[in-house]
Amino acid sequence: MQAGTKAAARDAQPEPDADLRWMRRALELAQTAAELGEVPVGAVVVLDGRAIGEGFNRPISNRDPTAHAEIVALRAAALALDNYRLTGATLYVTVEPCTMCAGALVHARIGRLVFGAPEPRAGAVVTTSQVLDNPGHNHRVDTTGGVLAAESGALLRTFFAARRADQARALKVKSADQARSLEKKSADQAPLAEQRGAVEARDTNLGEATES
Ligand code: ZN
Repeated sequence: MQAGTKAAARDAQPEPDADLRWMRRALELAQTAAELGEVPVGAVVVLDGRAIGEGFNRPISNRDPTAHAEIVALRAAALALDNYRLTGATLYVTVEPCTMCAGALVHARIGRLVFGAPEPRAGAVVTTSQVLDNPGHNHRVDTTGGVLAAESGALLRTFFAARRADQARALKVKSADQARSLEKKSADQAPLAEQRGAVEARDTNLGEATES
């Protein structure tokens, strides 16, 4: 699926073979995120046929709400180039960028964006909004969507299915624990009831004794 191609940027021309190669690298990075329990998204910034920055989604492990794969890769690339402008570079990312990341592409002057699967809830390039088409921006980003989209989507589906299974298991363990704790409580209360019975019996005996 070609989700959208806009006017080609000056220095960044599409190369289908290179697109597949770099998207496969982005998918490997996404897999690393999944292994760390992060939503699997990976990104690579490429300039002149060379990866200058890589990243995977890691907001939980970094305690950083902005640590999306694209932002991590852009920061690494800017450090590598020693320049906050990444003019002419291409950013590959396995999933359609969100509003924040699409905005960051404009700030970084990325020449071209290549993404994999569309993001139905937060995708801000073609799906829920078109941040890169904002006429107020004085920078255009050439965009190609749908590269290895099936692979990216499968990675996400596997991740969320495993997470749901984990949550269901945790819930089951929790209710089993609760059931055990309830059983324990009633077992603990039994001797108390017996004790209370013993006190009542003693009082009765006492009463009997007083009466006699
Ligand atoms: Zn993002």
